[in-house]
Amino acid sequence: MTPAAVSFRIGDARVTSFDVGDLSLRLDEVFGPSSVNARYFGGRDLTVPEAFPTKSFFVASGPLMVVVDPSDYGRLLSPDHFKTRAGYVSPPPLEVQLAAAGVAPESVTHVVVTHLHFDHYAGVTKGGAPAFPSARYIIPAKDWATPEVAEARKRGDADVAQTLGVVEAAGKLEPLDGPLGLGGGLTVEPYPGETPGHQVVGVRSGSESCYLVGDLYHLAEEVEHPELAAAWADAGALAASRRRFSERAAAERALVIPGHLPAGRISFKGSFPTWTEEPA
Ligand SMILES: [Zn+2]
Repeated sequence: MTPAAVSFRIGDARVTSFDVGDLSLRLDEVFGPSSVNARYFGGRDLTVPEAFPTKSFFVASGPLMVVVDPSDYGRLLSPDHFKTRAGYVSPPPLEVQLAAAGVAPESVTHVVVTHLHFDHYAGVTKGGAPAFPSARYIIPAKDWATPEVAEARKRGDADVAQTLGVVEAAGKLEPLDGPLGLGGGLTVEPYPGETPGHQVVGVRSGSESCYLVGDLYHLAEEVEHPELAAAWADAGALAASRRRFSERAAAERALVIPGHLPAGRISFKGSFPTWTEEPA
């Protein structure tokens, strides 16, 4: 295991999170100006770039070996994507971190992508071929069918064409619309809003559960204010998904791992959901 990896035992299953590199984001560019969002962020200056790790995940449960949101930091740093801080050195690439954790690419049975934003699927291919050659790739059908993605799929130079398009051509892509049980206590369920098809991976073993929630939450403030939505999101659908999810996660005392935040748990103070980071 590399220092950028953190592992959690969930009953008989194991969930490992890999930091593949920090994004640098200005919150006013995500949520709109400070004057509009002051009530959510207090005195925080939303124009100052903040670092958010991008994470990929591996779940081992019985015979299932599942990679969730494989990213590729090198691809994200193309001029069209996010810039990071001067002097920042990123962790090793995902394939190096998986190898250090004892995971061979051929052993992966499933790849699940929570939503079709590039930071969550840039690593589905390596060297122009599927990165996990034996895996079924489960992606949200509603994201795959949006006009923007459908248009980009037709352009050979687009990120989606060079990654998921390659997986599709190899006959390994499975667009999913609705809940799916993978067996072994693993589920994929829709929680739309961040994108039309955004989905969450659940891991349940014994009395324990864990959810890999993608970008259902980017920040702890979004747990506490479910209406706080990024400019690109469907705010109404997102708030409904967050309410539904937070009640469930709190009832199960589940470990919740967002795509760009450390793991935590959700509990309710009266009717208000609150976020508590999991102690290291
Ligand atoms: Zn993201």
